[in-house]
Amino acid sequence: MKNFVFLIAVIILFAQCSKKDNTPTSSNNLNTKSVGASAKEFLSAGTYTSINVQLQYMPGFAPDAAALSNLTNFLNTLVNKPAGINFSQTPIPASGKSVFSIDDISALEKANRTEFTNGNVLSVYVLYVDAPFTTANILGAAYRNTSLVIFGPTVTSNSGGINQTTRAKLETTVLNHEFGHLLGLTNLGTVMVSQHEDASHKSHCNNSSCLMYFSTQTSMMGGVLLSGPIPVLDANCKADLTANGGK
Ligand SMILES: [Zn+2]
Ligand SMILES: [Zn+2]
Repeated sequence: MKNFVFLIAVIILFAQCSKKDNTPTSSNNLNTKSVGASAKEFLSAGTYTSINVQLQYMPGFAPDAAALSNLTNFLNTLVNKPAGINFSQTPIPASGKSVFSIDDISALEKANRTEFTNGNVLSVYVLYVDAPFTTANILGAAYRNTSLVIFGPTVTSNSGGINQTTRAKLETTVLNHEFGHLLGLTNLGTVMVSQHEDASHKSHCNNSSCLMYFSTQTSMMGGVLLSGPIPVLDANCKADLTANGGK
């Protein structure tokens, strides 16, 4: 029996990565800011008219097609992107690692990411890795303004079995939740219209039925997903996004 799965804390990388990134593929610092720093750019059509999602995955952990379709629908209800949301998917080699730290993930992104925010296209990097996070039972994490990681083995071991939710539902929940952080939720780059940040779990909503709730138990989360729909944003989170340029 799995014990705890955190729907993920936001992990923000500090200075080291954001100031002096002179790699040729990243000629500016548009993709090396902290989580939530580009919330308004995601939500409004002002600067960027489309979102490009570059997905990369290690062998055995290709993204679930239904989850990506659900993610697209989720984003389309929230962001003003007249030129749409586009995906590309490419495999990368197996890591050979047994666990990943965020530094490991950051290094992989630096070595493999080829698509960056440019012109009127806002680029996001989503990496599916083949080993768990250093902290057990973490499903995924938003770690920069346009960067997410999904821990493939943790998603698959918590879905698809007897008395477990489907992989599509769990993966959709994680993707939508992490993108919610990129959109600035909760109180993470998108200002709250009214106070609803969970006092004991920073950057998360205080409504236990909201997508942005910091849910701590797998059994609870699995039960919720098994018997009910994928969690959605509550009225408070939606109001925040609308006030910051979203739909
Ligand atoms: Zn979270
Ligand atoms: Zn909420």
